[in-house]
Amino acid sequence: MTIEFHKVLFAPKEITHETKGVKLEASLVKNSKHIIKLDGKLTGTARRVCDRCGDDMDIVFDETLKLFLHNGIYTQKNNDIDTIEVLDGKIDFDKLIEDEIITAQSDFAVCGDCLNKTKG
Ligand SMILES: [Zn+2]
Repeated sequence: MTIEFHKVLFAPKEITHETKGVKLEASLVKNSKHIIKLDGKLTGTARRVCDRCGDDMDIVFDETLKLFLHNGIYTQKNNDIDTIEVLDGKIDFDKLIEDEIITAQSDFAVCGDCLNKTKG
């Protein structure tokens, strides 16, 4: 699903989109000429492998997601809130969710079995 950047206005726009088992519910609101603020929640389950034993395991998403979407290349650095560049005038929610899954998959994590072994 994509939404054209210029169609998001100062009145909040509610969206719900699910891809790869993870659902994003968010409100989009224009913040300035080139910035949209996304305020939402990610829920669902994705798959990854355990960093210790290599077995498949679930990543459970239940978290808030706050982002700025910048129309065009973003050069200013804002460390308070993540800013994502929208390069073709369209916000791609499949890619946005997939990027969040990839980020979660690249964090260190061990499965329940390995956690129990650690506890001994
Ligand atoms: Zn494991």
